Amino acid sequence: MDNPFFSQWGTPYEIPDFGKIKTEHYMPAFEEGMKQQMAEIDAIVNNTEAPTFQNTVEAYEYSGELLNTVAGVFFNLSECENSDEMEAIAEEVTPKLSAHGDNIALNAKLFERIKTVYDQRDGLGLDPEQMRLLEETYKGFVRSGANVPAEKQARFRQLNEQIASLTLRFAQNVLKATNAYQLVLDTAPAGISSDQIAAAKEAADADPATKGKLVFKLNLPSWEPFMQNCSDRSLRQQMWEAYTSRCNGGEFDNTKIIDTLVNLRLERANILGFKTHADYVLDNCLAKTPAAVNACLMQIWGPALTKAKQECSEYQKMIKADAPDAKLQPWDWRYYSEKLRKEKYDLDDDVVRPYFSLDNVREGAFATAGKLYGISFRENPSLPTYNKVAHAYEVLDGDQVIGILYMDFHPRASKRSGAWMTEFRGQKIDREGKNVIPIIQVVCNFTNPTADKPSLLTFDESETLFHEFGHALHGLLSKCHYPSLAGTNLPRDFVELPSQILQNGRRNPQAMQTYAKHYQTGESIPDELIAKIAAAQTYGQGFINTELLAASLLDMAYHSIAAPRHIDPNAFEADYLNSIGLIPEIVSRYKSPYFQHIFTTGYDAGYYSYTWTAILDHDAFAAFTESGDLYNPVLAKKFRHILESGNTVEPMQMYIEFRGKEPSVTPLLKDRGLI
Ligand SMILES: [Zn+2]
Repeated sequence: MDNPFFSQWGTPYEIPDFGKIKTEHYMPAFEEGMKQQMAEIDAIVNNTEAPTFQNTVEAYEYSGELLNTVAGVFFNLSECENSDEMEAIAEEVTPKLSAHGDNIALNAKLFERIKTVYDQRDGLGLDPEQMRLLEETYKGFVRSGANVPAEKQARFRQLNEQIASLTLRFAQNVLKATNAYQLVLDTAPAGISSDQIAAAKEAADADPATKGKLVFKLNLPSWEPFMQNCSDRSLRQQMWEAYTSRCNGGEFDNTKIIDTLVNLRLERANILGFKTHADYVLDNCLAKTPAAVNACLMQIWGPALTKAKQECSEYQKMIKADAPDAKLQPWDWRYYSEKLRKEKYDLDDDVVRPYFSLDNVREGAFATAGKLYGISFRENPSLPTYNKVAHAYEVLDGDQVIGILYMDFHPRASKRSGAWMTEFRGQKIDREGKNVIPIIQVVCNFTNPTADKPSLLTFDESETLFHEFGHALHGLLSKCHYPSLAGTNLPRDFVELPSQILQNGRRNPQAMQTYAKHYQTGESIPDELIAKIAAAQTYGQGFINTELLAASLLDMAYHSIAAPRHIDPNAFEADYLNSIGLIPEIVSRYKSPYFQHIFTTGYDAGYYSYTWTAILDHDAFAAFTESGDLYNPVLAKKFRHILESGNTVEPMQMYIEFRGKEPSVTPLLKDRGLI
């Protein structure tokens, strides 16, 4: 069979030849990839020579190349080029991959050899990266169940398979429920901006059934501005209820999945010798224990909630002016918040957005990377691409290409919501000693351009671009030897540092002036508007921090259950959030049935990491501001070292080398106006 996965791509930089890959190629490539890796593992365990670092740990590290290639393509495209066929493949392959992973992780002979090398590690003369690989490999096996007693292994495997299938179904339900709903209107409600109306018209015209009308949807670029601007309270309520009731019962129900999943995760953690799933997850992170996470989050929760209550009483006064008997509801929050923002700061998105055209923001991100690290970006339209709307760039350090970057910015039905960075291929030194450059992808869901306007970003969207670009730099600048230690292969609570420090840095006026230029006149953003944006930075932080921390703490609550129990997510969520004093006008950033981070995308007992790393990045950025130079070359060089090092060094050690001390929570509380 002529399957493009079975030969060299023969493309520039060996980029996957997207044009040649058909959906029918994936399954055979997955099967062959698993078969090849099993043969490689067999060769390791049947080696008659005594185990060494090279013939065991390194040989294992380099096994499964075809499988990694096909998985790198398939799983990225299933998030941004999804289809019924892709879903069917994902459903078929996910349990197989999970079983394959277990066949390796629970291979007693393989573990025995690794353990033999591990036990001799101090006398082997390994360099620091080899030592790190050995330690991480050993730990990985233990965490995957290598020490699970024989009588529990069958159940352990079963748990992994069930968990993998459930998380997949959870994600599919959210995507389907989000696409299934649309609010169809004949005319625009008062308050909706002309841009939103244009976007709603285009969405309506895409379907003959709604042609000529207006369509508002539940993906964030449509939903959020609707909630901020629509002055018709009952329509806001309708959109709010549609958004927050997704997957809570009905055709795409996720509530039963949550009940099962949380209990299965607990059972698996117990088998591995941990008290709770959170203990198991955190053992591998900087935070180490649920108690440490809760203590850290609570340092911010108190001040955030106090601020949120002040915001709430301000909005309550405003709604009373509109309707004397009205009590503020969650669907009113964004509307009055936006109204007050306009009154107090006169920071109208429609005034701000023209300075943040997507092209200018992207160029600003490129220029920032240039100033800090001396790298540059060159678009190359001749490189293979999976969708004609995605742009491909060669990333250059001097005249050397060090990586490839894909940027894919706008929503489409086949793309899940949100924004993320991934790798089609990570950086590594291959078996032959040759450096393999990374192929990185940044995917977002930004406002589409319309017929007469380019894509103009909200301030938040422009931050998202910098954030994901920060992750991309982490992948692109990687200078490691072993693939499993390279790039962003780091604990959750450290991996957000490079993205968030970049997101932080660009808020600085000095930085903003360099790229925020009016898309029509080319004029730089006026000082006055920068000052307003700066003043607005701390506006609404009560709400922002409260909804984020509520979600983070809720995640910890689910994954800290220490005994099996029936979980009704609605009751569990309400009870827990009441217990920590959340006010009814605010709900968790994600309600449980569509909380994808913790039920599908690997942030289980890890959602706190956004806040944890925010502490790190505010503290790290304070190093630059304290030095008086945002592009301080000495600090930039030290920070680049973090980006190059992947997971080859213990993360907290890297941080202290950069900063000279452990991080403090004070810069974050100050920057967010919470103290
Ligand atoms: Zn991130």
